[in-house]
Amino acid sequence: MLISKNIILTKTRRQPEMSKTYKIAALKGDGIGPEVTEATVKVLQAVQEKSNFKLNFLYGEAGYHCIAEYGTNLPKQTVELIKQTDACLKGPMTTPEESGAPVSVAVTLRRMFNLYANVRPCKSFPSVESLKPNIDLIVVRENTEGLYSGAESLLAPGVGVALRIITREASLKIAEFAFKLASQRKKHLTYVHKGNILRITDGIFKDAVKEAQQKFPDVEVDDLHIDAATMQLIKKPETYDVMVTTNLFGDILSDEAAQVTGSLGLAAGANIGATYGMFEPVHGSAPKYAGMNRVNPIATIMAGAMMLDYLGEKQAVAKIENAVIAVLKEGKVRTADLGGSATTSEMADAIVAKLKA
Ligand code: NAD
Repeated sequence: MLISKNIILTKTRRQPEMSKTYKIAALKGDGIGPEVTEATVKVLQAVQEKSNFKLNFLYGEAGYHCIAEYGTNLPKQTVELIKQTDACLKGPMTTPEESGAPVSVAVTLRRMFNLYANVRPCKSFPSVESLKPNIDLIVVRENTEGLYSGAESLLAPGVGVALRIITREASLKIAEFAFKLASQRKKHLTYVHKGNILRITDGIFKDAVKEAQQKFPDVEVDDLHIDAATMQLIKKPETYDVMVTTNLFGDILSDEAAQVTGSLGLAAGANIGATYGMFEPVHGSAPKYAGMNRVNPIATIMAGAMMLDYLGEKQAVAKIENAVIAVLKEGKVRTADLGGSATTSEMADAIVAKLKA
């Protein structure tokens, strides 16, 4: 098992003999989003043929391309559609950067459904060049506050302020989530902060981690300042297990960890709340590659596997992971980010072929 062996994401457990249909909200997104989402749906459809569950995909519109038509990147009907589903598979979306433009769909959905834990595993894949061998870490990022609170204003021309909101409640929740994860894995948790400068906000975060630690005495705990953490991730990434941190630091660390492990095109992420889960690649919409059938779909395919893990379909998760590993190990089908010339659809087809074999 590649990403989810020890990830406790499972929402429900059903009796294995009972067939079940899951409703999945599928948002293709912008840029390379449609290509990688379609590749993932192909893989998920292939795995369901060999399982006793069905996935009913309900497609919703969301992303930059919606703004002209709906005046928003997240139309109301899409939110209503999501509410009817068991989980969401989300393609990457382009976020406009102008002041006053709609905020990121991912950020809105994370807040709307209180998807407080962003879980981003990074593990070395066979035959994929990585900075160091034997990397197996997970970045757990607080997903609802911090510098993503969206509380930003212009005080005077040329003077702006952004609020970095950190609460004990959200910090405790994410710390407990990360401890649970660490206690199921290598029992090592590293909390990342900048408490020497951000004494109040990261002071609250640090205190919350220490409070949560009381319940997990078997987990070894250490901490790093964010600047040191970015350096240590390059120097000795194999020594980390679970790294928990605040919103922006987690976003940056997980992109770095993905590249250290081989490619952003391989990194998947889960957004988990008490009653809902949304699954997406770590990467964005890479507009320069849109429509070129060139990028790696594995990040989104692995996000699909994490979604099945959340739904409790462990055997199907193992099938997808084994198929991905087999294709990478063979090394015949490689997208450009892995040094090859295979297309997005060729990669998806190769994974589907392994699933059907
Ligand atoms: P990006 O992740 O889209 O792309 C950065 C680079 O990473 C690409 O140029 C490409 O070289 C590489 N890359 C990304 N995905 C790849 C894949 N599947 N296979 C191979 N290589 C891949 O980051 P960006 O350029 O900073 O952002 C583009 C847009 O995406 C922005 O509008 C940003 O706001 C948005 N974004 C959205 C999400 C999301 O929807 N959750 C996340 C990050 C960025």
